[in-house]
Amino acid sequence: MDLTEFLNKEQFSSFVNGDFVSSKNEDTNNFISPVTKKAWKSFSLASEQQVQTAIEAAQNAFFQWKITPSPVRGMFLRQCGDALLANKELLADVMAMEMGKTIRDGIKEVEYSAGFFHWFAGEAERIYGLTIPSQHIEKRIMVLKEPIGVSGLITPWNFPLAMPARKIGAALAAGCTAILKPASECPLSGLAIAYIFQSLGLPPGVLNVVIGDEKKIGKALLESPIVRKIGFTGSDEVGKYLYAQSAPTLKKLTLELGGHAPFIVFDDANLERVIEGIMISKFRNSGQTCIAPNRMIVQEKIFPEFLKELIKSLKEIKTGNPLNPSTDLTNILHSSASKKVKKHVDDAVKKGAKIEYEGKEMCDPFVLSGVTENMLIFNEETFGPVVPITTFKTMPEAIMLANRSQYGLASYLFTENLTTAHIIIGALEYGIIGLNDGLPSSPQLPFGGMKYSGFGKEGGPSGMDEYLVEKSVSIRI
Ligand code: ADP
Repeated sequence: MDLTEFLNKEQFSSFVNGDFVSSKNEDTNNFISPVTKKAWKSFSLASEQQVQTAIEAAQNAFFQWKITPSPVRGMFLRQCGDALLANKELLADVMAMEMGKTIRDGIKEVEYSAGFFHWFAGEAERIYGLTIPSQHIEKRIMVLKEPIGVSGLITPWNFPLAMPARKIGAALAAGCTAILKPASECPLSGLAIAYIFQSLGLPPGVLNVVIGDEKKIGKALLESPIVRKIGFTGSDEVGKYLYAQSAPTLKKLTLELGGHAPFIVFDDANLERVIEGIMISKFRNSGQTCIAPNRMIVQEKIFPEFLKELIKSLKEIKTGNPLNPSTDLTNILHSSASKKVKKHVDDAVKKGAKIEYEGKEMCDPFVLSGVTENMLIFNEETFGPVVPITTFKTMPEAIMLANRSQYGLASYLFTENLTTAHIIIGALEYGIIGLNDGLPSSPQLPFGGMKYSGFGKEGGPSGMDEYLVEKSVSIRI
């Protein structure tokens, strides 16, 4: 069976210890595609016993995987990345059916996901330790880096393929074994990765994918002393819960939580680049990304021209069926996102914001000007295609507005002035900064936040460290 045949099946189940296993209690979730509104696939939900079996399988596989030569671990990852690239359209179709992502965005997500596997394939070979000259003449000291152990990976619905890829890539490269719990809304993309690894002959237990009740699976992972690491992307509410519940077993965590990105535009900015930056950062995945700009902070002089050019570009955007390859913006927003868009737009208008551009539906672009700090939209992540604009006069005012958030994930800055750029880069309390760049995330650059956006990095040279522990060795000669 090839990947197409696998994904064309009607029924799916968890992947445990190298096999796709049905649940004995036949608890199934009949999945309705948000696009066709018709029954699409059904998923057998993992029993508690199966989750335990997955944890034990990962533990048993760990001892061998950990000592598997790193080029061999890297080879599996590289081949998985290749397989994703060879199946771009197929996987984009799956994501469109799962959560309404446009084919265009889906294809880019497959490329992004493959990039993580390729990056970590190389990183597997770069687990360098240290030797340090000791203050004692008779001693040699060194630091070894070793995989932390069994890792629980929990991912959200907005990037069904890339979020599992980013975590699995890092964990497996480091020599950890893993149990992935994909979002309940989008389990199939994660299972596609499992199927690819199974076809490549990955040893059983190295990767397990459990589909089922999030609370039950979460509890099993959190309470298990075998699970040494949790890698999570999702809401700050669930992130804080995982943090607290990891305390009794002292797990290491990487938490990628919400964002509320500012997008600062100075008068001297290159407007063409600004608009290009907004189109990619704000409208990718219809704004349903944690690095989407949620607060346009625009200097007063450039504002009228900025607004004119933005609206001109928005008029060219085609909202429609995500399965149509020419659609720019999906007409399917996640239910929580469309509710939030309406709530935020209504609240802003009630408090005095002006609608400069109005879509017909909540999935269409909206532009609001006159947005102030007392509005919900200035304070909460929207997760939809709304562009709220606040204007500013001076640089200190821009910095103050930009940092006025409990979140600290991504931020954007558009200026042609080198001094302004360096001052603002130094002042921004954000883990990621795009300078004249609307798409600062790439597999090679560490991705992660500050403050309530969480901690730890994914991707880049530090991404694998999250799955490693240091062992200090002192040798008396
Ligand atoms: P989002 O708003 O993006 O759906 P969530 O934090 O609700 O963010 O979900 C992100 C991931 O966390 C999903 O895979 C979800 O199933 C999982 N999740 C939610 N609640 C829990 C929990 N109590 N324990 C473990 N995982 C959970």
